[in-house]
Amino acid sequence: MFDKTGTLTKGVFDVSAVHPDVIEANELLHLTAHVERYSTHPIANSLRAAYPNEADDCRVENIEEIAGQGIRALVNGDTVCVGNEKLMEAIGADWHPCDHTGTIIHVAINGQYVGHVVISDVVKATSKRAISLLHEAGIKKTVMLTGDAKPVADAVAAELGLDMVCSELLPADKVEKVEALLSQKKDSDGMLAFVGDGINDAPVLALADVGIAMGGLGSDAAIEAADIVLMDDRPSKIPLAIRIARRTLRIARQNVVFAIGVKVLVLLLAALGVATMWMAVFADVGVTVLAVLNAMRTLKTEKRR
Ligand code: ADP
Ligand code: MG
Repeated sequence: MFDKTGTLTKGVFDVSAVHPDVIEANELLHLTAHVERYSTHPIANSLRAAYPNEADDCRVENIEEIAGQGIRALVNGDTVCVGNEKLMEAIGADWHPCDHTGTIIHVAINGQYVGHVVISDVVKATSKRAISLLHEAGIKKTVMLTGDAKPVADAVAAELGLDMVCSELLPADKVEKVEALLSQKKDSDGMLAFVGDGINDAPVLALADVGIAMGGLGSDAAIEAADIVLMDDRPSKIPLAIRIARRTLRIARQNVVFAIGVKVLVLLLAALGVATMWMAVFADVGVTVLAVLNAMRTLKTEKRR
């Protein structure tokens, strides 16, 4: 299972359109940049970057981040909400859809709808290859979970060749989806891995059998909750991690079987009175040396692809 924003996509959004309703386009960007002033969400970083003179003397107070929906804050005494349709519904603003494809960030001042900003993210260069290598490695099902809107989620899933996509999820819905899949695979011996950046998905990173976090973009909570951290944020490192893990386990098993097998054999020969001193030396020191040499092969897992 993958998170979308920041995991399969770069999490760096470009503003592709500004559609103000009653205020100036510049004022709309000014407001979004202010409300997002202290947020660490990838959307916030991008909206701040879209309005260069963000640090003016406007007062921004009472900032409240609503996970999976957006942000509410007081800007110069007015309540400004910046977020998705769910947030607009929650405050009863009269929002309207946009015909542009992309993530639509709606804005309302004191409950009145004032327009939206369309932002779009790009898929990471290695995401598609990562998914196909995972299928090749025998991963049965790849799923994407996202809080973003359905059209955006479906487009990304189709581009990457994912088996399943769940969109418009709140952080709590993500937990539910992971729990459902965890209980589904109880009867088989499958494993569930979740890959995320920890922004709104740290709980599922901890819940999955294997949690994989983005080390660069990821939050500290994600890195703390994860079992594996990808330091360069490239999803294509997941098939590599699986290859390294499988090879390491294979070599460890070979060593266990070999060491115990030789020892049992020499023990039996000794019981029958046919073991020599040199056989005993081989069963002890010889086996150790061979096992260590075999284990050293784990250092050389090919890094190709
Ligand atoms: P994902 O699951 O793709 O990583 P999130 O759960 O972090 O997405 O966010 C889901 C949606 O909530 C976003 O697509 C956006 O519409 C809205 N959202 C979340 N945080 C913010 C924010 N700081 N500003 C505006 N919108 C936000
Ligand atoms: Mg995310």
